[in-house]
Amino acid sequence: MRIRNTKTKLAIILSLIISIGVVSPAYAYAETTSDPGDLSNRVIFLDPGHDEETGNYFEDYSEHVTMLVLAEKIKMRLEGLGATVYLTRDSDKRKPSEVRCAFINKCALEAVKEARSYTIACSACIAEINRLISIMQSVIDDPELGEIYMNSPYDPERTIHRDQARILELEDDKEIRSRFLFISLHSNASIQVGNTSDNGACAFYISTEDKDVRTYYDNVSYSSYSEVSNDFGNIILDHIAGTGLENLGSMADNFFMIREHNIPGVLIENGHHTNPGDRAMLQNDDFLETLADAYADAIAEYFSAIPLPARFFEPVVVAAEEEIQEDDTEAPNAENEHEIKRVFLYIA
Ligand SMILES: [Zn+2]
Repeated sequence: MRIRNTKTKLAIILSLIISIGVVSPAYAYAETTSDPGDLSNRVIFLDPGHDEETGNYFEDYSEHVTMLVLAEKIKMRLEGLGATVYLTRDSDKRKPSEVRCAFINKCALEAVKEARSYTIACSACIAEINRLISIMQSVIDDPELGEIYMNSPYDPERTIHRDQARILELEDDKEIRSRFLFISLHSNASIQVGNTSDNGACAFYISTEDKDVRTYYDNVSYSSYSEVSNDFGNIILDHIAGTGLENLGSMADNFFMIREHNIPGVLIENGHHTNPGDRAMLQNDDFLETLADAYADAIAEYFSAIPLPARFFEPVVVAAEEEIQEDDTEAPNAENEHEIKRVFLYIA
């Protein structure tokens, strides 16, 4: 039998797919993108650097205090755009870096698990993700366990723990690439004591370009978002430059908070607090408002180029019976052809 109607073909294909249990109708989603500036379903971790014990103090400036004020202003803006925002601390005290990274990994693994439950079911994969989520939860509950799974205290000879490697590997996923972003917020001090002329903002991203990262990652490229993170670093620095802080560029480095998870992201030094000009800006609340605007604009710009997974949009269940009644002579239209391709893409 020759099937001439495109919608009929689609209905038959979809029925076959459903009947062999590969996908259920609820998973045939409309393909669309969110509005520019809409950060719904995006997840952003803001990590205001240091705390009262580990803070950098310079004259009457406290890095941890200013970075928390900045983080809260950014959070408010991002939430206004619909994002889910996590601050890694909301007071003068912070949790150990192992706990903060374990929390990020746990959130990421839960998202990967949810995404995979929408695609081809694999109970072994889900069981493995659950096991790794439990490990991260155990680190959150008992920070000392963090030393087992993460490189802490830092040992340049150490290579990555097998479970941590698996977590970073699982996070190399479209789900994470399209929805998650990490930003650690700092201000810099000149490495030369007494040097007050160094100024400007810079970004750091994780990359196996860095020899120590390469050694730790055991020559495997777990830093799968290096390029994306570098690009985001340049976007945010361009926006920060608009506030008056000099742009010193984005560069690879080996910081714990960008090494022990595999989320696109950067550590930003928001100027040098050892420089009188930069410090005066950072101590001005109006400037921090402007800087927070720059972050919100940069984050919205970054995500505007990245479509969300289709599962976040309204489901469209194809009404097979209704379509079969259609006129056989109807010419295939682009929308129907597109839908057929999309069904196959989804299965693939
Ligand atoms: Zn710092």
